[in-house]
This record gives sequence, structure tokens and C-alpha cells, in this order.
Amino acid sequence: MPPPYLLLDIDGVLIPFPDAEGSTPATHARHDVVPTGRSADNPVTVWLNPDHGRLLMDVIRIGLVTPVWCTSWRQDATTLIGPLLGLPTLPHVDLPRPQITTSHPNGYLWKRDHVDAWLGDAPAVWIDDDFTGLDHAWAEERTARGAATLLVQPDPRLGLQPEHLTEVTKWVAQLPVVRAA
Ligand SMILES: [Mg+2]
Repeated sequence: MPPPYLLLDIDGVLIPFPDAEGSTPATHARHDVVPTGRSADNPVTVWLNPDHGRLLMDVIRIGLVTPVWCTSWRQDATTLIGPLLGLPTLPHVDLPRPQITTSHPNGYLWKRDHVDAWLGDAPAVWIDDDFTGLDHAWAEERTARGAATLLVQPDPRLGLQPEHLTEVTKWVAQLPVVRAA
């Protein structure tokens, strides 16, 4: 069996949300990017922590997970955000573009139904800042039926922390399927 997928969100994970004063962590550097469909004279400002590239590569390099972008940045994650962090070209989950006004239109993360179908029975660790209790229940249900699933949920104002990736590495290491590989 292949290694588990590592599903990676961007907003609230690699790009922290500003706090009440509009500040972002001092660890993050400003970049202006032009997402697909936007004109070059109307870039989007993003804040990224260069340490995240190194930390993610430390996990990816071990080869025990298959990293995949899972973000509303879609293909732009690969072409715009990944290179700014020194990450290799990674595939992305081609998420739909639902007309929604909340990220939890049915009480759980809008990406989840699509991810559920995309994963099939594959094990997965999913890093996203926006899970609800129903998502955590979904992860437990998948795990119970043999599709090991770990949800890692950073605080969106702080984003990804080193301990989150330590948790990923430890979780992957204890999977029997990986240990046997
Ligand atoms: Mg997010």
C-alpha cells in the first residue's frame, strides 16, 4: 500500500490570518503574487515563513508521505506559493468552486466531500485550520474502517508550527503499513 497522503492547506496554515490589529507574525515575509485570472497590476499580498519550506521538506524527504496541495489556491499553490518556499512541484486536489458564503455550508469543511471521494480508502494526514467537530468525527470514522486519518489543525492566526510536523512524522511512523514497507 502506498504511503499516506499529506494534504496541505495554505490560508491559515502557511499564510496566517492577520490579528485584530492587522499584524502578521514577525517570522513571515511579504510577497506579492498574481493568482490565475487576476491581472498583473492587481497582485495579492501574502505572508510566508521561509522556515516552513525547510520544515516541510524535512517531512517530504523522508518519503513516508505523498504531499498534495489541498487549498482554494488550487494550481496556484504549485506555481506561486510552493516556489516561494523552495518546495518542489507538488500535485494538487482539484477542488470545485462552490458558491458558498461560509467554509462550513453543511456544518463541516466544504472541501471534505471532494477530498473524501479523492482519497477513496487511502490513509491521509490533512493539515487545515478550518475543521469542525464533524470533520474530526469523519476522521475517526475513516480510521475505524482501516483508512488511517489524522487531522492537524493549526491556529489560523499563527499558522503551521514545528510541533504540527513533529506530530505528522510521529503519526506516520506508527502506521503498521509504513513500518512494514
Ligand atoms: Mg485554511
